Amino acid sequence: MNIDSIKYDRWRNNMVDQQIVARGITDPATIDAMRTIPRHLFVSEALIDNAYGDHPLPIGEGQTISQPYIIAEMTQALNLKGGERVLEIGTGSGYQAAILSQIVFRVYTIERNNNLFLRTRKLFDNLKYHNIVTRYGDGTQGWVSESPFDAVIVTAGGEKIPQPLIDQLTVGGRLIMPVGGHLIQELLLVEKRKTGIFTTSMGGCRFVKLIGRHGWKEEEKDQ
Ligand code: SAM
Repeated sequence: MNIDSIKYDRWRNNMVDQQIVARGITDPATIDAMRTIPRHLFVSEALIDNAYGDHPLPIGEGQTISQPYIIAEMTQALNLKGGERVLEIGTGSGYQAAILSQIVFRVYTIERNNNLFLRTRKLFDNLKYHNIVTRYGDGTQGWVSESPFDAVIVTAGGEKIPQPLIDQLTVGGRLIMPVGGHLIQELLLVEKRKTGIFTTSMGGCRFVKLIGRHGWKEEEKDQ
């Protein structure tokens, strides 16, 4: 083990203790995954020493890797037990998918930006995350041929939850997504039960825009 990896291991454990556990995240699988995944490998070389800070970071193409706490909160809310197939919309840096890949059977992740898609697919190959399946395209339409999914996580904000994502969720499954305006949203947790769709709010959040057929249109300006 070299000095750098000891340093990043220490920073990562501090991140988990101070930002995740101290703020009330209790799910052991989420905590273990966040102690394991080397977040500093998911940001650019120039930002590597900021990777374990309590904030989102730019990843290029006008996009961000989310704050560690919100990733933990969203992961925990999905109530994953280990055998699931999970769909993520918005691969971005790949960090959220990597966290999920430690917990579940398989992660399917869709990214609409081709540069991010290509870069992150290569990173998954290099890191040998073989249970992550990537796709380039508009995630608001879901992934019909691989559906249904036990859980869906949308890591960009839209005005409403895309209907195809609810349709492609198993009965008993959970979906989490930021819903609201261009700049500020509410994190909504949806549970699909035999008796209907049940939605609860997990509080305010701020995500980049979900752009696509069932999301914002590309040209819409921030309000
Ligand atoms: N999960 C990411 C991570 O761990 O780094 C967070 C990525 S960022 C907050 C949101 C991502 O969603 C961006 O990379 C953006 O290009 C992507 N995105 C926006 N609309 C999309 C869509 N319709 N389908 C797929 N990806 C989309």
